[in-house]
Amino acid sequence: MIFIFSGPSGVGKSTIINALRQKRDFQFSVSYTSRNIREGEYNGEDYNFVSETEFLKLIDEDFFIEYEKYGRNYYGTSKNSVNNSTNSLILDLEVNGATKLLASNEDYIGIFIDIDDEELISRLQKRGHDETFIDERMRLAEYQRSFMDKFNYKINNKDINTTVNKILDIIYSLEEK
Ligand code: 5GP
Repeated sequence: MIFIFSGPSGVGKSTIINALRQKRDFQFSVSYTSRNIREGEYNGEDYNFVSETEFLKLIDEDFFIEYEKYGRNYYGTSKNSVNNSTNSLILDLEVNGATKLLASNEDYIGIFIDIDDEELISRLQKRGHDETFIDERMRLAEYQRSFMDKFNYKINNKDINTTVNKILDIIYSLEEK
């Protein structure tokens, strides 16, 4: 089974996916990106970090099953990582790539993670962002939520443990079918 996770920026998708991977042996699709590596990230583990030129070359070579430009950087999923998966595979994608991929194959399972506006604002404030940045992020979240209906499941992430358990329940119930 292939699970596509998406949702507004800042909802805690990566934390949820990491927690899921600790509970079960999911495979994770390591995307390619042209963005710079951040502190604490590992090449080949968090992303395959490539230059923009290399990324564009990979597009030309038809290497990606989907790719998007998000902000100033490119992000893409290789055809290999989806076609060669053996376990349940998790993809972490922004909304445009996620919905395009979901539309391409009805077997893919879309999971949209959201949080309440107040919670999102409070997280951004705690990270020290100013009002202009927070307003921009809230507008972006509004846009990202407009894709929600394209997903099979929607989860409001109020508490990480509850969210992880809800997702595991979904996965178990799908496996029983
Ligand atoms: P970040 O730069 O914070 O790691 O990721 C920015 C956004 O890119 C996140 O919403 C993440 O889900 C998305 N993303 C990561 N990999 C891919 C990918 O392969 N394709 C698409 N479409 N989005 C991706």
